[in-house]
Amino acid sequence: MKNQFTGTLIIGAGLAGLACARRLHDEGKGFSICEAADRIGGRVATDVCDGYRLDRGFQVLLTAYPEARRLLDYEALDLRHFYPGALVRYGGKWHRVADPFRHPIDGLRGAFNPIGSFADKLRVGWSRLGGFDFSRHDDGLTTLQALRAEGFSQSMIERFFRPFLGGVFLENELDTTVRKLEFVMRNFAAGGTAIPALGMAEIPRQLAAALPATSIRLNSRVKAIYGNRVHLDNGEILSPKAVVIATEAGGVERLLGRNDPPADSNLATCLYFTAPSAPVNEPILLLNGESTGPVNNLTVLSAVSPGYSPPGQHLISISVADPGAAAAPDLEVRVRRQLVDWFGAGTQAWELLRIDRIPHAVPSQRVAPDKPARLRKGLYQCGDHCGIASIDTALASGTAAAEAVLEDLP
Ligand SMILES: Cc1cc2nc3c(=O)[nH]c(=O)nc-3n(C[C@H](O)[C@H](O)[C@H](O)COP(=O)(O)OP(=O)(O)OC[C@H]3O[C@@H](n4cnc5c(N)ncnc54)[C@H](O)[C@@H]3O)c2cc1C
Repeated sequence: MKNQFTGTLIIGAGLAGLACARRLHDEGKGFSICEAADRIGGRVATDVCDGYRLDRGFQVLLTAYPEARRLLDYEALDLRHFYPGALVRYGGKWHRVADPFRHPIDGLRGAFNPIGSFADKLRVGWSRLGGFDFSRHDDGLTTLQALRAEGFSQSMIERFFRPFLGGVFLENELDTTVRKLEFVMRNFAAGGTAIPALGMAEIPRQLAAALPATSIRLNSRVKAIYGNRVHLDNGEILSPKAVVIATEAGGVERLLGRNDPPADSNLATCLYFTAPSAPVNEPILLLNGESTGPVNNLTVLSAVSPGYSPPGQHLISISVADPGAAAAPDLEVRVRRQLVDWFGAGTQAWELLRIDRIPHAVPSQRVAPDKPARLRKGLYQCGDHCGIASIDTALASGTAAAEAVLEDLP
């Protein structure tokens, strides 16, 4: 069945595809999005279950992300902010690691805790102010090598950076490229960490709300692209003027029938618990600075945004970064053992709502990619795999792909 659609066809309604669509729509250009799933948003999703809002894997928006600031209406998202710092578990106690420049009193109190030396604390504060120049490090360096080169002590790396960055990169070897460290620290330094009051899926929802309702076709998987013909799973063949592949890593190769080896991904594992009382009542990240137990980080999401849980209940998210620990068949039992150690036997009453296992959460990036938007005239790509994988890169790559389309097909 051949279809006469002649505008730009965008494959994928994740953040990259939606940002691309927004740019084309702003220019009054015709486009259509084919999305394989039954919803928009790709890896940014929120399920509402019995009054709880469960993001598919714990994730946050850094408010300084430049493309996000440009495209999103933060006020309408009703962003709820995290405390700029963390509680770190070490030596059987919780230690507050605060940003000394934003919370001077807490920063001073934390200056003499065992999570790194006093000099480390000043370095962290300085780097959050953007004063650290990770850009001077060679592209080939890993995050771990760069932290060592900057003079951070082993204790600061083990007790703070490994759990903190492990949770951000979704790998705790810290062999992610120094370029991602640079990107992440720059954005942490320049703004806050937040979630929309009603869940991360509000982000793609807001982007899509500005598009014509009929422009997004759900349950429409593209099977292959031959020349300028796009074949859908349902047998339809489209001949658009331009095609933008806005899928996750590996989509371009798959759709073009290339035999490139599949891209490596970091996996994410997140357990959601509900409890009648919260282990902490502030919007803060809790990090495991001890090298034991499966839990990497824990957040009481209902303390960040009460809209994440029904009244009187708390929603707790727990992320596991170590793939071996995440794969253990008794993961829940091990997590519960750690919770008893941290907060006491009362945690046995916490109810497990769900375990999210996301095998391809972000591309593994030992080397920083820099993929062009234009594959050839009429064929374009975007997605987080085009640069340092993040919400912002997905959005920026979508805009860049639209710019390339506009340039080629004015
Ligand atoms: C658990 C987790 C935690 C994260 N934490 C953070 C964080 O804290 N901060 C941050 O900045 N980033 C984080 N990220 C990364 C961020 O979510 C992604 O980088 C971003 O959402 C990627 O968007 P995208 O549009 O590039 O790809 P995707 O969201 O993967 O969108 C691709 C879309 O293409 C569709 N598609 C694929 N193949 C086809 C086909 N053949 N036909 C039609 N449609 C197709 C897919 O269904 C999907 O909807 C996290 C990701 C996960 C999973």
